[in-house]
Amino acid sequence: MTDALVLIDPAASTVEVADLGAPQLPVTDLSAHRGDGIFETVLVRIGGGMTVVSRDRHFARFCDSASALGLPDPDRELWDRGLDTVIAEVHAADPTTTEFGVRYALSRGTQNPDGSQSPRGWAFNVPVDEKIKHARAQGISAVSLDRGYDAYLGSKAPWLLVGAKTLSYAVNQAAGRYAAEQGADEALFVSHDGVVLEGPTSNLIIRRGDTLLTPLPEAGLLSGTTQRLIFDHAAELSFSAEYADLSLSEVIEADGAWYVSSMRTAVSLNQLDGNPISRDEELTAQLQALIKAG
Ligand code: PLP
Repeated sequence: MTDALVLIDPAASTVEVADLGAPQLPVTDLSAHRGDGIFETVLVRIGGGMTVVSRDRHFARFCDSASALGLPDPDRELWDRGLDTVIAEVHAADPTTTEFGVRYALSRGTQNPDGSQSPRGWAFNVPVDEKIKHARAQGISAVSLDRGYDAYLGSKAPWLLVGAKTLSYAVNQAAGRYAAEQGADEALFVSHDGVVLEGPTSNLIIRRGDTLLTPLPEAGLLSGTTQRLIFDHAAELSFSAEYADLSLSEVIEADGAWYVSSMRTAVSLNQLDGNPISRDEELTAQLQALIKAG
């Protein structure tokens, strides 16, 4: 797949096509050495029309993250232009491409000598790789990991930026490596006091009878666009949808469990801490189709 990159200048309201293979970011950029910025990754599907899955949900969360970090309000028209330019570049280079992601980010930028900052943004495409395709088809295993703080801490400690999608993902990456060392595909974060939270880059949904359940975002996790898309359409699949505090044993005893995120769509969680979880292949297929329809 062709690599496409656009640089987005919030101050000048410009979108400029650039070379993804060439250096673009000064090392002094605060995203590079502080992880100080925000991002979104959206799934794009082309075929019988073009769909940016949960476009509005992603942009709304992007604005919430900007607000949490004290970054300037993103301008919808500018970021739509950036996203659409990447999509057009990818499509023009290979009209047979049917599915890819676009990652867009806003960095606090570099610190100017007078103390002011110059936020800068960018967007580029990411592939739906073999690992994602395999997980969609076969499902995954996970090990639970203590996130190190109690549930519902975020409102008492807003500086922790719980629930904002920041560029500081070193901890999430480390959790993934730790899970791999344990022989699992994914981590499942659990609060220090035992409330199930989320994966490092996905939300968890379980099925109990005809109800879909997911942890409350306020418990200390990122409110997912995919989880909310599923909940908004649950009734069409004859399910009710609820937020609840879940324990690890409730996940293991569920009638089905899924990791959901923009790029994965919905993948079956088959095993947690070595314990098998019931698989619901029919609902997996229904959820994947629902998400891909956007
Ligand atoms: N939780 C975390 C920590 C994430 O990084 C992500 C996505 O990357 C999600 C949940 C799922 O969010 P979404 O469905 O919007 O992709």
